[in-house]
Amino acid sequence: MQQVAVLGSTGSIGVSTLDVIARHPQRFRAWALAANRSVDTLAAQCRVFQPRYAVMMDPDAADTLRAVLEGECDTEVLAGPEGLQQVASHAEVDAVMAAIVGAAGLPSTLAAAEAGKRLLLANKESLVMAGHLLMAAARKAGAVILPIDSEHNAIFQCLPAAQAGAPGLEGVSKILLTASGGPFRSWSAEAIAAATPAQACAHPNWSMGRKISVDSATLMNKGLELIEACWLFDVAPSRVDIVVHPESIVHSLVQYVDGSVLAQLGNPDMRTPIAYGLGWPQRIDAGVAPLDLVALSRLHFEAPDEARFPCLRLAREAAAASGTAMAVCNAANEIAVEAFLAGGIGFAAIPEVIEATLAAVSPVEPTSLNVVEAADRDAREVAAWHVARKGDRPNPGGEK
Ligand code: NAD
Ligand code: MG
Repeated sequence: MQQVAVLGSTGSIGVSTLDVIARHPQRFRAWALAANRSVDTLAAQCRVFQPRYAVMMDPDAADTLRAVLEGECDTEVLAGPEGLQQVASHAEVDAVMAAIVGAAGLPSTLAAAEAGKRLLLANKESLVMAGHLLMAAARKAGAVILPIDSEHNAIFQCLPAAQAGAPGLEGVSKILLTASGGPFRSWSAEAIAAATPAQACAHPNWSMGRKISVDSATLMNKGLELIEACWLFDVAPSRVDIVVHPESIVHSLVQYVDGSVLAQLGNPDMRTPIAYGLGWPQRIDAGVAPLDLVALSRLHFEAPDEARFPCLRLAREAAAASGTAMAVCNAANEIAVEAFLAGGIGFAAIPEVIEATLAAVSPVEPTSLNVVEAADRDAREVAAWHVARKGDRPNPGGEK
């Protein structure tokens, strides 16, 4: 029986993870569940899964959850970052699903790596911010990182050493990272500039949380994933090509020196990479419908357009600048996306805020978590200032 801590259990990835766990009650136990402040959803999950621990980041929400669960289940309720760290590194835990959204996921993801857990990594922001620290911690403690991001999971599956336990790049010439292109793939620059949060969150193929949905619409998601791939597979950004593939069936590819290209295909359902991560090195049922190639009939591929989607260029520039530039890029993006979703700025202002923040905050060597967190804080402050300046051009479709 594998004891699993699901961090971010109430989110899109968290719910899909619990769905896969529920299909294999003899094999996995949801030993701990953790979320920000959604008491009702976490309480419902506790009733079904009876975890040993439930963690609410928000202390008031933790108090409410404790009161709600009183007399109903034996789950112990913990609060705040300490509670998260505790379950992420607890001796009884075998695997940690890191599915908190954004920079908030970094400390617990790092704690799981340092404790040598099987790390199911959905929280790409932690690798973008602190890839060097996270990979070093995992190596030192012998933690196996299984990428849950569908593209990286696909690459992991197509790499030569995936079955042997560690990614290896022997004979690999390139990694081909696919991108759906998001909901605005075929929109004009003018139409994109006027896009509303509802339009940005309406992804054509994937149902995801709101932050990553906006990242998919700006293509920052692909920029973050480029950086994620470089850390996970130890490659330079120049060895990663981005290919737009609107159907989201080919989840990514690995090109070899002999001309072979291996791809992983499947319906766009995150339960596939989640089940792969949970079951690895075995394959387990994920509840996903088989792929019907005849019904699909055609798959399309095109080059990304960096003129309409400048976030891709910004992420590449941050990767090239290295050091804390990637943490700065990530923080500025989080602030800009939050402001866009709240109706404070227009869609076109997202890359503008990121670019201005990257120009203002000089990168330094990311020697410790403290250094990374300081860069994150500085970048948030600068980005918030730029957001405030752009607030005179609000997005009329924004949700205030
Ligand atoms: P979501 O918004 O649906 O869920 C986020 C979860 O994190 C929730 O459980 C929420 O309670 C929790 N959370 C938010 N802020 C927190 C905080 N400060 N402290 C503790 N918990 C907090 O997000 P999602 O779409 O499930 O994405 C989660 C992560 O997985 C992101 O890093 C995303 O980039 C990555 N990812 C998601 C998908 C997808 O299909 N949804 C695919 C690939 C990668
Ligand atoms: Mg992805």
